[in-house]
Amino acid sequence: MKLKQLEMTLQRLRGFSRPRASLEQYQTPAPLAARLLYHALMKGDIKGKQVADLGCGTGVLAIGAALLGAESVTGMDIDEKALAVARENADLLDAEVAFITADVREGGCRERIGTCDTVVMNPPFGAQKAHADRPFIDCALAVAEVTYSIFNAGSIPFVEAYTARKAEIDEKIGGSFPIQRTFAFHTKDVQEIEVEILRLKRIA
Ligand code: SAH
Repeated sequence: MKLKQLEMTLQRLRGFSRPRASLEQYQTPAPLAARLLYHALMKGDIKGKQVADLGCGTGVLAIGAALLGAESVTGMDIDEKALAVARENADLLDAEVAFITADVREGGCRERIGTCDTVVMNPPFGAQKAHADRPFIDCALAVAEVTYSIFNAGSIPFVEAYTARKAEIDEKIGGSFPIQRTFAFHTKDVQEIEVEILRLKRIA
């Protein structure tokens, strides 16, 4: 599947039915999700690999990984309602994904998810609850050698400090994340947020 085709396919997926601000529920826009996944595919991190999507929400990244030939995909989220949408989305595209309900803050990621090759994720950026992204990074490093994660632009110093001696950032891909007016505190119809996709490689 070509990049453009992946993007158009992911565009068909449903968004959150009633997004919750406290969980920073913003569906990953299809062009950004496709860029992350395609890049990971080209690096040999998707096809034939075991992939996990942490905070999978509506399932865009998990489903995309399945469509690109991952051997198995697990999607994890705290919110049952989001997972119901994710399951519908997976059915719509005939993608095989195992969805599990779990709170990443509770730890036990290895037991719940098992080990895998690659994590793809768009975790909360910590706009509502400071440091909300940290348990996601911990979980990702606990289960996979390689992680692709979306962060606010300019996050590298924080991520580097937080993962020191555990992982290294070996790639950064810039992108933008158009946030549609979703919550009462949003003042614009669309706000473009500059983001970066970081590839984290665990240090053995
Ligand atoms: N990648 C998804 C969702 C991104 S939004 C998509 O494109 O649809 C961040 C997601 O993290 C939300 O689905 C939210 O429910 C989930 N989340 C927030 N806190 C969480 C926690 N403590 N444990 C697990 N998932 C959590």
